[in-house]
Amino acid sequence: MENATITDAIVKDLRFPTSLNADGTDAMHTDPNYSCAYVIIVTNTGFEGHGMTFTLGRGTEVVTQACKSLFRLVKGRNVKEIYSDFASVWRALTSDSQMRWIGPEKGVSHLATAAIINALWDLWARIEGKPLWKLLVDLTPEQLVSTIDFRYITDVITKDEAVAILKSNAQGKEEREKVLLKKGYPAYTTQVGWMGYSDEKVKDLCKKYLELGFTAFKVKVGINLKEDIKRCRLIREVIGYKNKLMVDANQIWEVEEAIDWVKRLAEFKITWIEEPTSPDDVLGHARIAAELEPYGIGVATGEMCANRVMFKQLLQARAIKYCQIDSARIGGVNEILSVYFMALKLGVPVCPHAGGVGLCEMVQHLQMWDFVALSGTSENRVIEYVDQQHEHFEDPTNVQNAHYMPPTAPGYSTKFKKQSVAEYEYPNGVAWQHMFKEGIFPEPVD
Ligand SMILES: [Mg+2]
Repeated sequence: MENATITDAIVKDLRFPTSLNADGTDAMHTDPNYSCAYVIIVTNTGFEGHGMTFTLGRGTEVVTQACKSLFRLVKGRNVKEIYSDFASVWRALTSDSQMRWIGPEKGVSHLATAAIINALWDLWARIEGKPLWKLLVDLTPEQLVSTIDFRYITDVITKDEAVAILKSNAQGKEEREKVLLKKGYPAYTTQVGWMGYSDEKVKDLCKKYLELGFTAFKVKVGINLKEDIKRCRLIREVIGYKNKLMVDANQIWEVEEAIDWVKRLAEFKITWIEEPTSPDDVLGHARIAAELEPYGIGVATGEMCANRVMFKQLLQARAIKYCQIDSARIGGVNEILSVYFMALKLGVPVCPHAGGVGLCEMVQHLQMWDFVALSGTSENRVIEYVDQQHEHFEDPTNVQNAHYMPPTAPGYSTKFKKQSVAEYEYPNGVAWQHMFKEGIFPEPVD
């Protein structure tokens, strides 16, 4: 490995004006401007690491400030030392004796951790000259597991067990890698049903994605039951009953309300209800899951799950049938790997959350590693896909026939194009300055 030292870390606030077209709208987030805190880690050898965490516009300035507060823990460090004991570096970032008070391991400080940790993984993959999924696949079981901090989860999985699982599932790895390179990994689309879209637009998009080969579709629900019934009926008319339909309430309901509401949608053969209630309500999710099971509807959540401990509880309580890791939340790759191990052990498939800026770019790597090296299957698993903001990345996702094709460029696919940064850095980017001038958005006030 390159003997590089981290000389600098930079963070940028990038925002895209997605609210103008109601893209990304749901029951709780009615005007999101898809954004991110974008971290660049600079070394003395020319290698850089690019990482990010996803945000919705306002508040990104708080996350960037948290990143700056954490940079002191990585600046000046030798990369060889970091990657030979990555779990300790992860713990240093999440357990700084003063900083942890504003978490711990949740909220803004954990989003900032994710951005920095993701940049460190991108740097590692670039140094090794491999896409991240391949780096993960090629690490020995001991090396891979050494990146995980098992604190608070040893009652479900230990380091030794994780190594043993990887070793026992190693058979067939090469064949699975070949299958992956040839066929890619199955995707579903959420593009068809953002909350703010008209019926006509929903219909047209269903047709478009059917033609593109998609067989699973997700729609936003939760504001008006009559409208939801109408919308599900409309979508079923276009996609038929052979294809899968999932619904997503983005946390809007009470527990009882969720149960009653989703039962009313059962006639549309719903595969899962996503985020029915508060992301912290483990027992509420368990209750909803139990009530909806007879209807063949599973509960899915995870995009706002705070950390591995919350995931552990959701999995232990049988509160989720689908585990939706998010690559920009919890503490980045290291912590997400621990969730994959727990989910596998407790028999819950991982179906990553994606769609926001850079999320599709990242989660594909993790799920591909899972397919080749961990679970060894894509059965009952699928990656979310939304065709938005990919044009801003140097190595964007490549989805063919509703399958993510494996990235080949080194890194974690999270490096933005220079031009996109120049345009969308907030508030001084060219595009934002133009929109302020035109009165499309108000100028920010301090
Ligand atoms: Mg969702």
